[in-house]
Amino acid sequence: LFSSVEMAPRDPILGLNEQYTADTNPNKVNLGVGVYFDDNGKLPLLQCVQAAEKAMMDKPTPRGYLPIDGIAAYDNAVKALVFGADSQVVTSGRVATVQAVGGTGGLKIGADFLKRLNPQAKVLISDPSWENHRAIFQNAGFEVASYRYYDAANRAIDFDGMIADLNAAAAGTVVVLHACCHNPTGYDITAAQWDKVIEVVKAKNLVAFLDMAYQGFGHGIAEDGAVIGKFIAAGLNIFVSTSFSKSFSLYGERVGALSVVATDKEEASRVLSQLKVVIRTNYSNPPTHGGAVVAAVLNNPELRALWEKELGEMRVRIKEMRQKLVDGLKAAGVKQDMSFITTQIGMFSYSGLSKDQMVRLRSEFGVYGTDTGRMCVAALNSKNIEHVCASIAKVVA
Ligand code: PMP
Repeated sequence: LFSSVEMAPRDPILGLNEQYTADTNPNKVNLGVGVYFDDNGKLPLLQCVQAAEKAMMDKPTPRGYLPIDGIAAYDNAVKALVFGADSQVVTSGRVATVQAVGGTGGLKIGADFLKRLNPQAKVLISDPSWENHRAIFQNAGFEVASYRYYDAANRAIDFDGMIADLNAAAAGTVVVLHACCHNPTGYDITAAQWDKVIEVVKAKNLVAFLDMAYQGFGHGIAEDGAVIGKFIAAGLNIFVSTSFSKSFSLYGERVGALSVVATDKEEASRVLSQLKVVIRTNYSNPPTHGGAVVAAVLNNPELRALWEKELGEMRVRIKEMRQKLVDGLKAAGVKQDMSFITTQIGMFSYSGLSKDQMVRLRSEFGVYGTDTGRMCVAALNSKNIEHVCASIAKVVA
């Protein structure tokens, strides 16, 4: 039966992880994966999460099946977070939100639904983008192409190229946009540039699919969410995937969501019914624990305040590390201006280093980033930063 099965290529990032684990260099630093670590290099377990879990343990509940679209209190909390509790779209009932298995699950449910809705559509993702965007939409049956985004020569965004590519897209094309904290580059477009993107999406009848995997990691929860409000104000029907993997440090619980903004309540209920078909025929219904934890935190004012504080601390620490990296590289003798690192936002930095330099960083210094030059600045800390700066200085010299 399996004699003709070919070996699938290894996931490049997970492969990097294995290489890191096997590395015996005592100074090794893993900047490969997109995970936030605290200043002690540890994966945080947020206090708000622990408090919610403790309350759940004190009052254990049986684990029946959840509704297909997940915990109602969770879906409502997601709507409030993404669109604003008092926003017209939410109060009028025209948002269909379903709990999903991580942000990846939200993207996948949206992709499968879109394929049924508009099988001929193409999908555009940013060049470059999170690796899985292409794979998820291709596996849903779409042809996936990219729009220009990163301008390597200028270490910036090729915004004119992006707009030209969106303008050239056929009506109905699904455009996957990073709502904030672009992965992998760390470069986000400005508010004025978002307005321009929205103008084109509207004029060309494109379908915006906003991937919000880092709400709160950029400038703040409301600040990062503001882009969603812009699309709503433009009267667009949009898709938004949400991930709490990073913002709650709940990677393994797989907590995410998909929200679809319809034109009215009746349309939203039809959309919701179709999202449920996608889920039902895929994994039936979502798991209980992670969603219950996030709902408990978001719906309790005290825990919510604690979450905002802890999320804020993660955000600030990343920014501090960016500054320390710029300063440290300069102190280590790097001549070129590396200040672009502090204009980037979120967990990642496209360092501008070549594949050869990244390979040298790994093999000679035990500093692991991807071959594209992406480094996870959220894994830097006061203990490893010096070694990282000294190592980079050596490979760029
Ligand atoms: N979108 C982007 C841009 C991401 O970076 C990630 C996580 N690396 C995801 C989606 C998926 O999130 P999750 O782990 O919650 O599935």
